[in-house]
Parts: sequence; structure tokens; C-alpha cells
Amino acid sequence: MELWYTENHTDNVRFSIKVDKHYYSEQSEFQKIDVFESKEFGRILTLDGYLMVTEKDEYIYHEMITHIPMATNPDIKSVLVVGGGDGGTVRELCRYSTIENIDLVEIDEMVVDVCRKYLPSISCSLDDPRVHIHYEDGVRFVRNAPDGKYDLIIVDSTDPFGVGEGLFTSEFYGNCFRALNDDGILVNQHESTFYDSYANSMKRAHSRIKEFFSTALVYQAHIPTYPSGHWLFGFASKKFDPRTDLKADWWNSLGLVTKYYNTILHTGCFAIPNNVRNTLRETYK
Ligand code: SAM
Repeated sequence: MELWYTENHTDNVRFSIKVDKHYYSEQSEFQKIDVFESKEFGRILTLDGYLMVTEKDEYIYHEMITHIPMATNPDIKSVLVVGGGDGGTVRELCRYSTIENIDLVEIDEMVVDVCRKYLPSISCSLDDPRVHIHYEDGVRFVRNAPDGKYDLIIVDSTDPFGVGEGLFTSEFYGNCFRALNDDGILVNQHESTFYDSYANSMKRAHSRIKEFFSTALVYQAHIPTYPSGHWLFGFASKKFDPRTDLKADWWNSLGLVTKYYNTILHTGCFAIPNNVRNTLRETYK
């Protein structure tokens, strides 16, 4: 008998991956957590049935959410990751010896435990001595964060509904602005514009970020397992323009081996197509 994992990208579009094993399935306090094994994408983590990461293509997302800000400001030392319980973003951050502190705020401890057990290639740096895991709501954590504590905040959240909804609000972005210092950069997973339901949440999030940050851009990556495959990230900053402030020579001198990110792609990924510009027109200058 064949077993398939299926995610509804819209009411009329389904995305399925043939799976060999269903390793784990439990309801946490916050969401349903499942882990599958598949021939094509390796192990797959889903939350409430929505695909979060696969072993085969997670590097695209985690490299792009991390190396774009890191190559823009080599002086980043103090980082906050909101969400990100699979550990992929933390893994990429830990490759920089220049980073001194990483606060990871993940609301669901069970996600971390499951990823430590079933996705070791993704969660492998969670025990780095610079990493401090806080099991709480990122909205509350940022509300209570001291002014100017962080150089970089990465919002590696689930989608803007359910437990992740509060991470797409003006209150949250305003508190991120306050918790960042004058060189601060905010990067967030910014959904996609291809399907209306995602486009509407992205427009709302983008306009809310622009309420606080003088620079608010989006950049793109091709992520095969996310809805439409065309996925966006938000880049907001008080000071930097990632297209002109890229420190390519510095970044390349680090010798970090990546499978997707490079410093040519760094500027290119901000050249977004008209279907995205038109969706953001009222907020994207
Ligand atoms: N890369 C994935 C994506 O783009 O969909 C998301 C990675 S990670 C698995 C998302 C994490 O955000 C989940 O572990 C979830 O528990 C966490 N999360 C959702 N809402 C949160 C909140 N309000 N505070 C802290 N963590 C939250």
C-alpha cells in the first residue's frame, strides 16, 4: 500500500510526497507534530499538517534567511531567532565565529525535542555554548526584551495563523524595532504572493514592517516544497541597504561552503518580479 503526505496549498491545489515511514505523530500543547521519511526529500517535519522542513531542501531556506543579513553587516554579534525550533537557522548562524550570543525563542519545546531526535543534520548546533533556548511565546519575549539588545532578529516562524499569528503584528514588529540597536536588521520568513491567501498576509506584514523601518525590502528563493515554490523573505533595517552594503570580499574570505547562497545571488535575489512588486505596490517603493 502506498503512503502519501499531502498539504493543501489552496482549497484547489494539493502537494503530495510519497512517504515510506511515518516516524512520529503527537499533539503538543500548541500543534500536531509529525515526522515522515520519504525517498525524494528525506525526512520531513510537519506542524498541523503544514510542511516545515525537509532534509533535501532545508538548506535553501536556512542559508537565505541567515547569510543575507550576515554578509550585509560583519559586526553582528548578538542575534535573536524567533521560532526556528528545528535548529536550521541556528546551525547556519553558529558557522560565524564573530557571533557571540544567540537567543532562540521557540514556543514549543516538543518541536526541539523531536528535531533533536529525528533531524540531527538540522538541529546539530542547538548545544553550541552561544545558544540560549527560551521556551516561550516570541511575542511576549520581544515585548520584554531590553532596548537595543540585538544586532539581528530573525523571525523563522510558522505561517500567520494559529500559534504563529502574533509574529506578524504591528506590536511584534514595533517591539523588534525597539529591541534592535541602531545597526539593527530584521529578517523574516515572508510567505509568497502566488496564492491569494498567502499574498494577503504578506501584504499586511510588509505594510506593518514599513511602519517602523526606513528600509523594508523583500528577497526571494526557490524552495520546491513550499507553496508555489517561489518563497519570499523580508529584510528590514534602520541603517543598511543589503544591495549596496554587501561585504562580499569579507564574506568570501570566511570560506563558508554553501549549497545555495553566494554573494552574486545576494544582490540578484532582491530583483523581484512584477507579480510581487504589483502585490506590494502600495507599500513597496
Ligand atoms: N522554516 C519553517 C517555515 O518557514 O515554515 C518554520 C520553521 S520552525 C519549525 C517554526 C517554528 O515557529 C515552530 O517550531 C513553531 O513552534 C514556532 N512558533 C510559532 N509561533 C511561535 C511564537 N508565537 N513564539 C515562538 N515560536 C513560535
